[in-house]
Amino acid sequence: MLKKGNKLYSILTGSCPKCHEESMYTNKNPYAISQLFKMHERCSTCDTKYKIEPSFFYGAMYVSYAVGIAFAVAAFVIAFLIIGASLVNTFIAIVLTMIVFMPVIIRLSRNIWINFFISYEKKEIRSQLE
Ligand SMILES: [Zn+2]
Repeated sequence: MLKKGNKLYSILTGSCPKCHEESMYTNKNPYAISQLFKMHERCSTCDTKYKIEPSFFYGAMYVSYAVGIAFAVAAFVIAFLIIGASLVNTFIAIVLTMIVFMPVIIRLSRNIWINFFISYEKKEIRSQLE
């Protein structure tokens, strides 16, 4: 399912939205907190500029709201409905989930956001355009 050419591939791996050949981030690990926001300026394979316009990734904050809620709902379902924790413990579980997964949520949001604007192009098509 998760193959190059699928938007999900770029979103889940943080790879270039156009060629899916390499990571947009200088450090792939989102838990390297000091480099959480550090991205390459351009893709060295297809020369896509990631920051389409100044403060482009501010828009990712709207996405992170939705992604955050998805994680919170997942934490609620697991803690309250599956494990059967009390409401207080469920609340604690949700807060902990949000904190622990914050770097992942931030990265996912950026990946989803840029994939709204840039679509995958097959290598053959790209080389024809050059
Ligand atoms: Zn690329």
